Amino acid sequence: MKYIGAHVAVDGGVASAPLNARAIGAKAFAMFTRNPSRWKSDPMLPSEIEAFKANCEAGGYTPDVILPHDSYLINLGAKDPKKLFLSRIAFLDEMQRCEQLGLSMLNFHPGSHLNEMTEEECLQRIASSINKTLAQTSGVKAVIENTAGQGSNLGYSFEQLAYIIDLIEDKSRVGVCIDSCHAFAAGYDLATSEGYDAAWRKFDETIGLKYLSAMHINDSKKGLGSHVDRHETMGNGALGMDFFHMLMADSRMDNIPLILETPNPDLWKEEIETLYSLPGAK
Ligand SMILES: [Zn+2]
Ligand SMILES: [Zn+2]
Repeated sequence: MKYIGAHVAVDGGVASAPLNARAIGAKAFAMFTRNPSRWKSDPMLPSEIEAFKANCEAGGYTPDVILPHDSYLINLGAKDPKKLFLSRIAFLDEMQRCEQLGLSMLNFHPGSHLNEMTEEECLQRIASSINKTLAQTSGVKAVIENTAGQGSNLGYSFEQLAYIIDLIEDKSRVGVCIDSCHAFAAGYDLATSEGYDAAWRKFDETIGLKYLSAMHINDSKKGLGSHVDRHETMGNGALGMDFFHMLMADSRMDNIPLILETPNPDLWKEEIETLYSLPGAK
């Protein structure tokens, strides 16, 4: 069974996310638990938290199909001490919000070296940020997303993700979210059946399939290995419908959230319907 959804809006507070997910026929969803472009955010009200939980229950959304995404400002690998400090504080707050909401995963981009240090040094810093946060929280898994490798963003290769995971003290609380657009832009050819098989074989050998906790299922505006992070609506990009067919037929993606971050929210309902009509989706 596939759990397909989208990164829905939280207009009017977190409690609206499960309602917005339900309105588009989603069986999973992603959301922000605070303003993603601000360092500070007001705490959530107890009534808001209760409403979120009630709406999730009414919609049949359990924590394993809900994938909150952290703020864009956070750089867990920053060299600048002030930036690193702010990032770690914000990341801890993100994790604590997940705890309060009864959620079990937090999805985030690893970080960027900004040409201020080596890739290795930055990856070590990221792992240390994750370890520090995990030590202060409980029950929420840190789900690292692969990137397109745009600019100095790390986490574009399976080796880099494996390097971070290796340094995590509590391996039961770390996972990976593979964004199909990012993987394709980073050079993993998910568009052909040979490329698709090779990429997942490589994933299993390098990271291990047991770490696959979620996917972002986006088409890609730019080509293979472009290192450009531009999502495209389903079937209209360089990945194309063949990729989505292969994905739905692949039982390795059963029972994890598969989240659309495609650029047109008006199409999400239709994209979800189309995906559920493909063999293997139900
Ligand atoms: Zn993504
Ligand atoms: Zn992206």
